[in-house]
Amino acid sequence: MALDFELSWEHEQIREAMRGCLEPFQGRREELTQMVIKDKIFPQELWDAITGTGLLGCMVPEEYGGNGMGLMGVTIGLEELACHGFGNALLVLTAMDMACIYRNGSEEMKQRYLPKMASGELKFGFAITEPDAGTNAFRVKTHARKDGDDYLISGQKVFITGADVADRILLVCRTTSVEDCKKQGLPKGFGLALFVIDPKAAGIDLKPIPTQGIEGMTQFTVYMDDVRVPATEMIGEPDMGGMALFNSLNPERILAAAAACGMADNCLKKAVNYANERSVFGNRTIGSYQGISHPLAKVAIQLEASRLLTYKAAWAFDTSDNPGLVGQYANMAKYTAGEMAIEAVDRAIQTHGGYGFSEEYGIIHYHTSARLLRTAPITAEMILNFIAEHHLGLPKGY
Ligand SMILES: Cc1cc2nc3c(=O)[nH]c(=O)nc-3n(C[C@H](O)[C@H](O)[C@H](O)COP(=O)(O)OP(=O)(O)OC[C@H]3O[C@@H](n4cnc5c(N)ncnc54)[C@H](O)[C@@H]3O)c2cc1C
Repeated sequence: MALDFELSWEHEQIREAMRGCLEPFQGRREELTQMVIKDKIFPQELWDAITGTGLLGCMVPEEYGGNGMGLMGVTIGLEELACHGFGNALLVLTAMDMACIYRNGSEEMKQRYLPKMASGELKFGFAITEPDAGTNAFRVKTHARKDGDDYLISGQKVFITGADVADRILLVCRTTSVEDCKKQGLPKGFGLALFVIDPKAAGIDLKPIPTQGIEGMTQFTVYMDDVRVPATEMIGEPDMGGMALFNSLNPERILAAAAACGMADNCLKKAVNYANERSVFGNRTIGSYQGISHPLAKVAIQLEASRLLTYKAAWAFDTSDNPGLVGQYANMAKYTAGEMAIEAVDRAIQTHGGYGFSEEYGIIHYHTSARLLRTAPITAEMILNFIAEHHLGLPKGY
């Protein structure tokens, strides 16, 4: 049987639903852009309109308030939102956390969280990075200590996106320290634990970090000092969070790739429109110069390739229960789409000449957003390390 690359009617409906929910906001683009880019606020009414379509419900079946369309549904939806300039990091974070809770959480936890996440009532953040544990995530020091039926969590996280607006955060910490793992001859992947925490709980302090790159959102240092969390908020078993973690990280990479494709598509369309209108020498438009058209054609090719890889990664996540295999496609998609988005934004700026830097044309702010993709949610170097080791079987050099 031939491979079928056609999107289904249901997937087309998701795209249609995204366009439909954004329609009422089109006339207020300037006001919303001001809120998202300058004030770093993602408007609640926009969140409500997007989640009201059931987009996040794709992540879970009907019994948890969803529609069972899978990560592929969110991938297609998020890409479409980004095509219209409305990508949103909290959608990515909430969806990735849903995947982890659905695949690894207790039945009680699934019932408690998934319907409210699916409806958009609960926004989730994600916290793994620490001052000494970014690329090397196994080095996390934040520790959860058992205290009766609860855990007491202490430590520090950095760069936590949207910690001020998230209702909950999926926190990666340790129930056995790296040092104790070493002493006991256990692998460093052992000892990790995942908790759902309330960022407004007693013992948590948030400090904003002035950063750029994620529109409509701020990053925070999260200080935790004996934060009391019921044991029922742990996803899976103590010490065994390592594998479950990838049920969050893989969707994050795939959705970052989808957002990159949408961003690139948006910038490419702006560039093509401008190239078709602008004349510099005589009446011919700049789009007729190969110096302008060929780089844009290359972006179009790379965009199509990135989109295919992103859909393949989403398909792998939905159909495979092997996080290692899914990770290969997720990382490839994130790398390809991230690098492509950087080029797409750069070419759109170049096509616009000086106007590429004018805020009015709505391109320049993508420069940082696209560039961030080479660094977060995982750095390009670590993806290449991962592919060299796990896909090609080359030795690990660090
Ligand atoms: C805007 C923004 C939003 C973020 N949001 C979140 C969030 O919501 N939640 C969260 O947990 N984190 C978040 N992060 C953190 C982000 O995931 C990390 O910054 C990123 O993973 C890199 O970690 P690091 O900054 O500690 O870099 P480091 O680990 O210090 O690495 C520094 C450089 O060394 C390179 N390097 C390190 N080891 C190797 C090696 N073995 N081989 C080759 N190169 C290597 C890295 O690739 C990198 O280029 C965010 C970051 C930013 C900037």
